[in-house]
Amino acid sequence: MGPKRAGFVGLGNMGAPMAGNILSAGLGLDVFDKAGTIEKAPEGATAANSLSELAECCETLFLSLPDGRASFEVAEHIASHNNHVTNCIIDLSTTGVQASQQCFELLSKAGIDYIDAPVSGGKSGATAGTITIIWAGSRALIESHRPYLEAMSKNIFHVGNVAGQGQSMKLLNNFLSATAMTASSEAILYGLTQGLEMDTMLKVLNVSTGQNTATSDKFPRQIATGNYAAGFHTTLMSKDLNLYAESVHSAGTSKQVIDLLQKTWQQFDQEMPGSDFTRIFQFLQNPD
Ligand code: NAD
Repeated sequence: MGPKRAGFVGLGNMGAPMAGNILSAGLGLDVFDKAGTIEKAPEGATAANSLSELAECCETLFLSLPDGRASFEVAEHIASHNNHVTNCIIDLSTTGVQASQQCFELLSKAGIDYIDAPVSGGKSGATAGTITIIWAGSRALIESHRPYLEAMSKNIFHVGNVAGQGQSMKLLNNFLSATAMTASSEAILYGLTQGLEMDTMLKVLNVSTGQNTATSDKFPRQIATGNYAAGFHTTLMSKDLNLYAESVHSAGTSKQVIDLLQKTWQQFDQEMPGSDFTRIFQFLQNPD
């Protein structure tokens, strides 16, 4: 049986539209964001004044927080709150493998299920309800939360039973996405010096073997238009690449591409703090 009452913590670029879709499906939702709940709450949500207030009324809590440290802090707060009724936390954040395992262990001791369920698809996917939910944990909990999950997306994948496996899947996906953004930016910058037009290059690439998510989506929507508003901060992509590098180093598999990529994105994040990740194109325009 699903929760009688559910809550959502973290109403940023991803959290606000995902929570909004749960509400649009007619499911009630209590929400909280430490940067200002009322301002960020989607229409129809019940705004909580604190995390403790959520923990006292919601059996299930969804989290969409910036990183593993934030998820662990929230998990610690809920686990140590005496009057909590929360028995399940579904973490939609990209936390990294280690933080996910730490949250699982901490919450298990308090009798709370922890599901590692990062998402992919960006702000546009979160808004349209087309994101991918990458679930690692009990299959039974998917079923009992299906109305909530399907309100956020129909693309729900069970990738394993152990917390951290969802993170591994998410991180390897973002490694590929960042590789596509970086390599496509380099290729198009080169093409421009050869007198080729961006629009022409995109048309050719998108029906040829170089096609990827940067050429089919980010370039036409965000870069060619000058929007640079995909809704994913460079800091978050750099965090994901650092987490992926850390995990690859401990797995002992090939790290040639990630080592280069990690350095590029750290430098990009330092030089253009607070930028949308699609500005990698502008960052690469001025090589040293
Ligand atoms: P964001 O920075 O826009 O939103 C995070 C929100 O969490 C903020 O509103 C912040 O105030 C709130 N918050 C932070 N600590 C809190 C706490 N202790 N208690 C309550 N609220 C707290 O980030 P985002 O882009 O929405 O990303 C959220 C997560 O989803 C990240 O882990 C990110 O890596 C992942 N993600 C993002 C995208 C994207 O395209 N933006 C895509 C897939 C996955």
